[in-house]
Amino acid sequence: MKISIESSITRYRNRHKVKGLCQDCSKLALVCRSRCEIHNERNNHYTREACRKTYVQRKAEGRCPKCGVPLVEGEGVICVNCIILKKLSAQGRIK
Ligand SMILES: [Zn+2]
Ligand SMILES: [Zn+2]
Repeated sequence: MKISIESSITRYRNRHKVKGLCQDCSKLALVCRSRCEIHNERNNHYTREACRKTYVQRKAEGRCPKCGVPLVEGEGVICVNCIILKKLSAQGRIK
C-alpha cells in the first residue's frame, strides 16, 4: 500500500517536472529548479537545518563535521582530508 502511494507521488512529481511546474504545488517552478520560489526556499531551509544538526552532532561526537570520520588526537576541528580539500578549493584547483 505504502509503495503504491509513493509511486503515485513520484508520478505526480514527474508529471509536474515535465511541465516545468513545482513538485509540491502547481505553480511554475523556478528555472533549473524543480520547485516554485516558496517551496524552493522552504526546501533550502530544511536542507540547511539538517546540515546544521549533522554538523553539531558530529562535532559533539568528536568527528569531522564535514565528512563524519572520527578525528585523531592533534587534529583540529575538521579532519586532515577536509583541510586539504579546503586548501585546494581555496586555490581554485577543485570546486
Ligand atoms: Zn510550490
Ligand atoms: Zn573531514
